Amino acid sequence: MRLTVIGTGYLGATHAAAMAELGHDVLGIDIDPDKVAALASGRVPFHEPGLDELLAKHTASGRLRFTTSYAEAATFGQVHFVCVGTPQATDTDSGAADLSYVNAAVDALAAHLSPGTLVVGKSTVPVGTAHRLAGRLPTGTELAWNPEFLREGFAVQDTLRPDRLVMGVASAAAEALLREVYAAVIATGTPVVITDLPTAELVKTAANAFLATKISFINAMAEVCEASGGNVATLAEAIGHDNRIGSRFLRAGVGFGGGCLPKDIRAFRARAQELGAGRALAFLGEVDAINLRRRQRVLDLARELCGGSVAGRRVAVLGAAFKPDSDDIRDSPALDVAARLHRQDAQVTVFDPKAMDNARKAYPDLEYAATSTAVAEGADLVVHLTEWPEFGRIDPAMLPAAGRKIIDGRGGLDPARWRAAGWTFRALGRP
Ligand code: NAD
Repeated sequence: MRLTVIGTGYLGATHAAAMAELGHDVLGIDIDPDKVAALASGRVPFHEPGLDELLAKHTASGRLRFTTSYAEAATFGQVHFVCVGTPQATDTDSGAADLSYVNAAVDALAAHLSPGTLVVGKSTVPVGTAHRLAGRLPTGTELAWNPEFLREGFAVQDTLRPDRLVMGVASAAAEALLREVYAAVIATGTPVVITDLPTAELVKTAANAFLATKISFINAMAEVCEASGGNVATLAEAIGHDNRIGSRFLRAGVGFGGGCLPKDIRAFRARAQELGAGRALAFLGEVDAINLRRRQRVLDLARELCGGSVAGRRVAVLGAAFKPDSDDIRDSPALDVAARLHRQDAQVTVFDPKAMDNARKAYPDLEYAATSTAVAEGADLVVHLTEWPEFGRIDPAMLPAAGRKIIDGRGGLDPARWRAAGWTFRALGRP
């Protein structure tokens, strides 16, 4: 099939390459000419494991191309996937999503669409958006919603082998076209959920709300453990054995960040309020607050370990990306904590295996080191804030820190190992 992918960021570039891998002819379109030039030359402008190989393979074969022209895209595709960003709006305190990119993309496409084509939203949007956008399309074309559940760091495998496909459709024809697009994925036994437009939009925001709630639940338990002398790591292990609860997403730490969970739970809550269902999602405000309090807890521990103030102290921060195996620093807890330490006059140096360029651009006032060893040179305090596997392999005896004090903000380091090497080791929610 001939598909277009509109918006070639983390989601769209991965989707475009994966659709080419499934055998389709794909045209990616973005308004950022630098991104289009990089992708067209076979270079992924961000870090995502496995995507470089897929992009290089299909740009070389000619099955995957990129453009900035909507006219070209509209005439090329039978099915158009909308993958543009839906960040948190900055002109309101409500937490609502900024839909200007989605609106602009659909309007630009609509101006050139011919009858019989299908526009498929993949961006995460407030419920009701699809219905509204459908009214902006020309007669004879149709809109469907097919939310995306990929995880950065696993985006390629999550796109090629998703744990489910959700298709919000208004007609049998739209369902048939989407089933044809994903035929190879469906053939492997992937569950398909067919539903209406609002339910498809809600599935995505509900899934993210649940995941955020699970993380904040264990972080709330960490707060209670801190107050009572309990150990949240043991608590999580013990409750996780109950398979109604499950052990995944139960690691207490500095909390969630990134370009999805924080803005998605805020937008979900704002939309529920608009719909008169605000009470139903009021708890997401608490989920958000628990999450942000964990960042403050790391700052409080840092002050405590530095004798009451971090001013003038050298602090080494391990991590900048919001999660390992990504260079995405959007709403990264690591950089938020680093920046707040810097504002309290600490001398902060950061190291991250992949996110250094993005971090430098966004936080030029912080200092950066070239390795996970160099970052600790002369540090009074080390703070572990992104759970890269290489940080777990650090030999505490070899780290050239001046003060042997570490805060494990991710709960992934082995306290016994660090203490045996003479370090004062503090973590969230456990001794
Ligand atoms: P991103 O910022 O990496 O990519 C968005 C892209 O859209 C950018 O390249 C931007 O230049 C482009 N764009 C903006 N306006 C455009 C327009 N009018 N026409 C064409 N291109 C335009 O964002 P992302 O992380 O890829 O997220 C995109 C959407 O997917 C969001 O709604 C997000 O919530 C959702 N999503 C993201 C993930 C993820 O892990 N990143 C997972 C699931 C869903």
